[in-house]
Amino acid sequence: MNAGPRVVALTGAGISAESGVPTFRGPGSLWERYRPEELATPEAFARDPTRVWAWYAWRRERIARAEPNPAHRTLAEMEAALPSFILITQNVDGLHQRAGSRRVIELHGNLWRVRCVQEGRTWEDDRVPLPEIPPRCPACGALLRPDVVWFGEPLPPVAWRQALEAAQQAEIFLVIGTSGIVEPAASLSRLARAHGARIIEFNIEETPLTSLADEVWRGPVGETLPRWWHAFQDRP
Ligand code: NAD
Repeated sequence: MNAGPRVVALTGAGISAESGVPTFRGPGSLWERYRPEELATPEAFARDPTRVWAWYAWRRERIARAEPNPAHRTLAEMEAALPSFILITQNVDGLHQRAGSRRVIELHGNLWRVRCVQEGRTWEDDRVPLPEIPPRCPACGALLRPDVVWFGEPLPPVAWRQALEAAQQAEIFLVIGTSGIVEPAASLSRLARAHGARIIEFNIEETPLTSLADEVWRGPVGETLPRWWHAFQDRP
């Protein structure tokens, strides 16, 4: 297969739904039971770190039991087959890496990393269960927080710059399992469109990004994405 058009993929929580990881919005979502502003904000953490960490500990346990699904694996195949392929994710679950993706732009961090609130140092921590909640820095005793981006916080600047460049250079932009509501990640699809990319949406339902899309694959992404990829590989 020749190098072909430059393909960029943006994934959201929906790609991990079939792995058993709850989404934030849509049927069976986390937010049906919890309010985001009570948990995923710096203010919530300052008010009650134990409560916020209990929620992250619960998510880490669920994700540790989850396996990447065919959609994650398809994106890893794309990376191996297309030298210019770029994967941008809003997810924090690490399932893309477990499926074999190596070049992943993580816009919202990763819940398998912790950060010392005092020193700002980050490191990987995949202990499940955590020995104490809230966990503390072994060096200075300060609180640790998940190294994720909370509502109201800026995105990691390097990842965001790489994502902007990728969106501008994309010829095919795959929007996969994202509600298209969380900014600024949602603006990447508009940017890609403005720079001439063909937008292809994969979602079980209509989203605010659907009207931008040149092509829509409706249905569970574990089925639709492998089908799209096979058709793409068979193109003349
Ligand atoms: P979201 O929860 O707002 O939206 C999920 C989208 O996925 C919805 O549009 C839904 O219709 C779609 N969807 C659900 N199941 C699907 C399936 N099987 N196939 C195709 N589409 C499906 O998620 P978001 O847009 O990523 O934004 C919310 C924020 O949620 C992000 O910042 C992300 O960091 C965070 N989040 C991450 C995880 C994770 O890492 N797995 C889980 C929950 C939330």
